[in-house]
Amino acid sequence: MLKDSFYPPQRTLMGPGPSDIHPRVLQALSRPTIGHLDPCFIGMMDEVKQLLKYAFVTENEVTLAVSAPGSAGMEACFVNLIEPGEKVIVCINGVFGQRMAENVIRCGGQLINVEDEWCQPVSLEKLQATLEQHPDTTAVACVHAETSTGVKSDIEAICQIAKQHDCLTIVDTVTSLGGIPLYVDRWDIDAVYSGSQKCLSCVPGLSPVSFSSNAVDKIKSRKTKVQSWFLDQTLVMEYWGNKAARTYHHTAPVNALYALHEALLMLKKEGLEQAWQRHAMMHNRLYQGLTDLGIKFLVDEQHRLPQLNLIAIPEGIDDVAFRNHLLRHYNLEVGAAIGGLAGKAWRIGLMGYAAKAENVALCLKAFEETLNMMRQ
Ligand SMILES: *Cc1c(COP(=O)(O)O)cnc(C)c1O
Repeated sequence: MLKDSFYPPQRTLMGPGPSDIHPRVLQALSRPTIGHLDPCFIGMMDEVKQLLKYAFVTENEVTLAVSAPGSAGMEACFVNLIEPGEKVIVCINGVFGQRMAENVIRCGGQLINVEDEWCQPVSLEKLQATLEQHPDTTAVACVHAETSTGVKSDIEAICQIAKQHDCLTIVDTVTSLGGIPLYVDRWDIDAVYSGSQKCLSCVPGLSPVSFSSNAVDKIKSRKTKVQSWFLDQTLVMEYWGNKAARTYHHTAPVNALYALHEALLMLKKEGLEQAWQRHAMMHNRLYQGLTDLGIKFLVDEQHRLPQLNLIAIPEGIDDVAFRNHLLRHYNLEVGAAIGGLAGKAWRIGLMGYAAKAENVALCLKAFEETLNMMRQ
């Protein structure tokens, strides 16, 4: 029997995303839909662009939200910047680096992997050595905040090395944008993509991206057409770029963009640095509390992401039973680990609106009570 509607439970989302959404953002989402070529809507899209430039700390003209989730932002960067036969280095230290590598293969690129252990950041020495071995490399790709492990890599240093070898840089900032310091222009990032549902605390389904003028030149001077019509930035740029002459490309997800606009306004109001500080503060609280309960963090302090905490499952505790108990009794979602870490660790997210004292307190109380109950 079908019910008359779907009413989701009220959860607290402390997994790897989506994260909790502020009521203001949900309210914005439910406002009346207007035409995507309505002058009012075009004005709002322009503000989204300004606000994304603020969040990415960039002056890049080509800064917009791809009308699809973070994975589509990833594809948008690769299909536009990589032509068949080009050599691309991908730094892999977790699941999302592996996906970048898969993208290079599908673009017909010549893939060179620089692999590091899971739970470790990208090794600058290995990247340097690999670039010296392959001087004809055209691009270097890496993940800023590897959500599969909770590890932060040194993007500024990685891009500096890549630039010394005349490479374009492609960076995944899906989990980092709004959560930890990220400076697209200052760090020389040519193509960057993110997601709406992590530290921006917006609904899933949009992917902010930004392309430097180097990246735009590369796209414009391609010898081959971008193999994806939908993600071809030369076409999308016209849709997002020229306010006066905007023509139909695809129908923008109008209401989702209201939500992103609202989430970004809230980020601007709080201040980017303040948001970064809040994530760090909430992480410290969580770290203190979980450590007091005897729980171990699996990533070294200097590489740890405040917004994604990888912790070891305590001995004798059943992974699935524990997480199910949190969901059923506390309406609290924490993340399972994936890949080689599955069954051995949990991932606790403190992303965006979810990075607040009440959530940390709820999580600590739920962990303490559930561990005590399961150990009896
Ligand atoms: C979540 C995530 C993605 C994919 O984003 P979707 O919106 O799920 O497609 C890509 N990279 C990283 C680092 C992520 O955390």
